[in-house]
Amino acid sequence: MTRRSEILAEMGLSPVWKLRAQPARGEEPAGQQGAWIELKQAVPACTACGLHATRTQTVFGVGDERADWLLVGEAPGAEEDRLGEPFVGQAGRLLDNMLAAIGLARGDNVYICNVLKCRPPGNRNPEPDEVAKCTPFLLRQIELIEPKLIVAMGRFAAQTLLNTDASIASLRGRVHRYAGRPLIVTYHPAYLLRNLPDKSKAWSDLVFARRTMASL
Ligand code: URA
Repeated sequence: MTRRSEILAEMGLSPVWKLRAQPARGEEPAGQQGAWIELKQAVPACTACGLHATRTQTVFGVGDERADWLLVGEAPGAEEDRLGEPFVGQAGRLLDNMLAAIGLARGDNVYICNVLKCRPPGNRNPEPDEVAKCTPFLLRQIELIEPKLIVAMGRFAAQTLLNTDASIASLRGRVHRYAGRPLIVTYHPAYLLRNLPDKSKAWSDLVFARRTMASL
């Protein structure tokens, strides 16, 4: 058993090879539905880090489970913890407006989730141990969605998926790869609310992402 299979087994998740019956895109692969159910049960049952003790509920993700676009944020905030859906607070409203500006909408060929499925108390930054414990859930979501393009919003999403400690500024403007899929880095919407002049950079990033998607 590989280390990855061991971690999945510890979380009660099947190895990916069991889920795949070589589906064509657009078809529901054999086992896929079961894998989503398994994952949607595993996340709220998780007690792998201390955040389970302070959460109201887990925040799994929202949208089209076969979306071409996957947007990954950091962690639920207070509103998300209360409502169980990612990006429903002020940062979420900005995200929805940014998506609309490039012709996208939450749930319409778009899936949105976070690195962490539980809220860090007081909206503090995620701890490395929390990220390490929660990342297998995100990686499984990516395996199941099979997005054509990933947009990593903010430092935690970018650094986690690219396995780097490089800054957002140094990662923007290029097409990276996560498991062979194009990945584009941009600022986190909550950061943009505090740093309005950088909104134009995020706009350029999304236009770049849209152009990249069109070229695939
Ligand atoms: N910030 C995030 O990173 N995710 C959310 O769901 C909300 C705010």
